[in-house]
Amino acid sequence: MDFDLSDDHRLLRGTVREFAREEIAPVAAELDRTGAFPYELVRRLGELNLMGIPFPQEVGGAGADTLAYAIAVEELARVDSSVAITVCAHTSLGTQPIYLFGSARQRAEWLPLLTSGQRLGAFGLTEPEAGSDAGNVRTRARLEDGEWVVDGAKQFITNAGTDISGCVVITAVTGVDGAGRKEISNLLIPNGTPGYEIGPPYRKMGWHASDTRPLSFAGARVPADHLVGARGAGFKQFLRVLDIGRIGVAAMGVGLAQGALDEALRYARERTAFGQAIGRFQAIQAKLADMATEIAAARLLTYRAAVLKDQGRDFSLAAAQAKLKTGRLAVRAAEEAVQIHGGYGYIEEYPVCRFYRDAKILTIGEGTDEVQQMVIARALGV
Ligand SMILES: Cc1cc2nc3c(=O)[nH]c(=O)nc-3n(C[C@H](O)[C@H](O)[C@H](O)COP(=O)(O)OP(=O)(O)OC[C@H]3O[C@@H](n4cnc5c(N)ncnc54)[C@H](O)[C@@H]3O)c2cc1C
Repeated sequence: MDFDLSDDHRLLRGTVREFAREEIAPVAAELDRTGAFPYELVRRLGELNLMGIPFPQEVGGAGADTLAYAIAVEELARVDSSVAITVCAHTSLGTQPIYLFGSARQRAEWLPLLTSGQRLGAFGLTEPEAGSDAGNVRTRARLEDGEWVVDGAKQFITNAGTDISGCVVITAVTGVDGAGRKEISNLLIPNGTPGYEIGPPYRKMGWHASDTRPLSFAGARVPADHLVGARGAGFKQFLRVLDIGRIGVAAMGVGLAQGALDEALRYARERTAFGQAIGRFQAIQAKLADMATEIAAARLLTYRAAVLKDQGRDFSLAAAQAKLKTGRLAVRAAEEAVQIHGGYGYIEEYPVCRFYRDAKILTIGEGTDEVQQMVIARALGV
């Protein structure tokens, strides 16, 4: 067991940390206020080879591992969650299914565009009637004259509606299997496909600069070879994609909590009350000490899930545990950071206010806490 990061991982962490501090931090509050999508930052992330971190160089990726990806996402979320989720949803949800299950043709066409960040990828699983119960897909696709004809709706989809969104991989019911069960398959739908409509962005509690929209399909037609992987393999495929995605979202929780601690520490040193810095009060010190300890534990869980994946071992349980732990931690750490800021914590000029709003989704997206508990309990044999 080696707790030290490799030179490569440390170098990457330093690069992303500097980028976040120099280029994201100065604009994060304004992006949050206006809800403007961070096109320029995404372009810079592409230049820095951060839009396809865990994919091989042959397909345009950075050729790094999942641990590197987690470290990068952590450093981004430490400063801004909207940018971090844009990278995360693009990498783990948008690009991953094409990389893992796509045909040679799909990979050749899409991976260079996605891994370079020229185009954003999205994954459309959630529907009005299918969130936690993701198998309850209502969107349907039928083969007609060599084309899939898609009808249905998706909701809460990240990255599908920006000016640089390239495609969305969706789950759809493509028939019934021999036992009468729904046959679920994944289909690749390029932006601009007639009949594929992208709704207006939601007004969200947080992640204001991230793109989240409803999608609808009314007789949308794509060629038969837009099936991603085998017909009927969609359920297994999305479980795999979600397992991987949880590592990224867990890294977001660690990063957000660390960012909240950074801000709380800074404020505790600056702010005086009763003639001394508030950081000298034991009640404030206890909060800071608990935050730092919980963050250290959550980081280890997250890195462990990433390393298990990189070693080709089963990481589903570790990823669910990391996701559960870090989502809760992010919410608590952001709340404590606001508390340490007193009234100023409730005012938007301090980043902790944004962190507080951005944290809550981490206990909901990519599987709610209750879903993670189900996954963990199943692994415990109950
Ligand atoms: C900002 C944002 C971005 C998102 N991005 C994407 C995206 O890019 N792609 C995508 O496909 N989805 C995306 N989602 C959807 C997200 O993954 C779902 O919202 C989430 O999985 C929960 O599904 P739901 O909203 O339908 O809630 P429900 O499934 O309706 O859950 C409601 C409540 O019931 C609980 N519950 C449900 N079933 C059980 C059970 N069996 N036992 C105990 N409790 C249960 C849940 O834990 C929750 O507390 C996004 C959501 C948001 C808000």
